Amino acid sequence: MSTARMNRIASVGEMTSRIESVFENKPKQQFCSCGALLDNESLGRWASLLTECTSCIEKHREAEAARQLEEREERRKALRKAKAHERWKKVVPKKYRETDPKHPNFPRGLDAFAQAWLADVLDGEGSRVWCGLIGESGKGKTRVMSRVMRQKIHSGEDCHWINATRFQWACQYQFDDERGAIARKALERMLSCEFLAFDDLGKQKWNPTVESHFYDLLEHRDSECKQMIWTSNSTLEELALMLSKDRAKPIVGRLSESSNIAEI
Ligand SMILES: [Zn+2]
Repeated sequence: MSTARMNRIASVGEMTSRIESVFENKPKQQFCSCGALLDNESLGRWASLLTECTSCIEKHREAEAARQLEEREERRKALRKAKAHERWKKVVPKKYRETDPKHPNFPRGLDAFAQAWLADVLDGEGSRVWCGLIGESGKGKTRVMSRVMRQKIHSGEDCHWINATRFQWACQYQFDDERGAIARKALERMLSCEFLAFDDLGKQKWNPTVESHFYDLLEHRDSECKQMIWTSNSTLEELALMLSKDRAKPIVGRLSESSNIAEI
């Protein structure tokens, strides 16, 4: 046997015995920060890498998972808020988005009335499914309505906002070549949305087609128990006088039966 080969065998033997000695050496006793003795016997030379007991490792893993979950939830919440803000800007006219409830002319009583209705409806407290705010122009009805709308949008409901003039426009132009698609979409949204804000009833006299669409809208939302808040410049009696003889009673009747109404 050559000297080189003998040397190689010797060094392999030396290496083997060194590895064996490492594994034979009992690791020294180590403790977790919680005080538990670490089960490191089988780990040999790697024993020093184990610094925590199984229960602490599990606890830390759970805490980390909970932290990540919370982080994801925070991100989702922020995203929902941003989306709601976008919806709010898209749905509610700017003038009403800038409502300041601390302004001296802000109608606090009317606001409290609408908020109470909203709370009752949310609780299913047997409140009527619609809320009506009646009073002359400039008293802040629409501002109160916009605050209800804000809450609805932020709670994630599918909301739509329309005023009587736009409603009339949509009814009249639904079969128009150019504007028909937009008009029909507006009419469809009024029926399908979860929450509808209808501004400025009684602002102008409607023709029979508009009246008939309005009655269908009320009928649909009432039978589906879909919430709505509306404002009117006219009292229900005045509104009845503005409607045609056939439609006045069913429309005004439905509004008064299904709404909590406040007059200022
Ligand atoms: Zn521990």
